[in-house]
Amino acid sequence: YRHGEAGEVVVSTPDGAVHFGEQHPVVLVAGPCSVENEEMIVETARRVKAAGAKFLRGGAYKPRTSPYSFQGHGESALGLLAAAREASGLGIITEVMDTADVDKISEVADVVQVGARNMQNFSLLKKVGAQDKPVLLKRGMSATIDEWLMAAEYVLAGGNPNVILCERGVRGFDRKYARNTLDLSVLPVLRSLTHLPIMIDPSHGTGWFEYVPSMAKAAIAAGADSLMIEVHPNPAKALSDGPQSLTPDRFDSLVQEMAVIGKAV
Ligand code: PEP
Ligand code: MN
Repeated sequence: YRHGEAGEVVVSTPDGAVHFGEQHPVVLVAGPCSVENEEMIVETARRVKAAGAKFLRGGAYKPRTSPYSFQGHGESALGLLAAAREASGLGIITEVMDTADVDKISEVADVVQVGARNMQNFSLLKKVGAQDKPVLLKRGMSATIDEWLMAAEYVLAGGNPNVILCERGVRGFDRKYARNTLDLSVLPVLRSLTHLPIMIDPSHGTGWFEYVPSMAKAAIAAGADSLMIEVHPNPAKALSDGPQSLTPDRFDSLVQEMAVIGKAV
């Protein structure tokens, strides 16, 4: 990574090129934790697009703490993401957990996500570094900034220059009130260390939908280039991460509140 330079990552989507970086408007990424069925993913895509999102997020392969929790619909969910992409024009961001799945995921995804639990999965980093789609690299839940940047370096060294860093909260000591501790101080620190664009995920960063709007607005005030927000049409029925998901109506209101904070959204 390069010091002291403004960088950008340009991603092509069905609706055109989207620029992530300090010189550009905040890019909104929204959608459910998991892709559950066609109706919910297409409806969510339409709603978040109408609110101003440029990307739909949604997991096909889910890294769950318990093997008995919903693991994602896998390959069939990739097909649903492709349908939502077609229906909405949004770019798609979805997580890859296994080197064996990189090729089929990068056929559908406009940005390939490496999740917190795989931030230092070096064979996965090498594999996504050797393909063409931009990579969203989430911070490991106890990763230092140097470890995170070196993980990004694996992708860059593999020949893929398009990495977006995503802060999603680190493991804190008071998990009664916050699933993770969202470390917004990474914004000025990373800005001074790297040219790579910075996304903030206040959904995983707090764990509760009530706290997402405050932290989303704080992230914009502190200079985030992009936000990732979990949105579900019926959070009470979500198969994963319902408690931290906004409804489409709440997402709408948040986008309006965010527009007055900083860079145009
Ligand atoms: C997710 O984005 O749904 C996810 C699993 O995130 P993280 O890797 O940050 O826990
Ligand atoms: Mn989630």
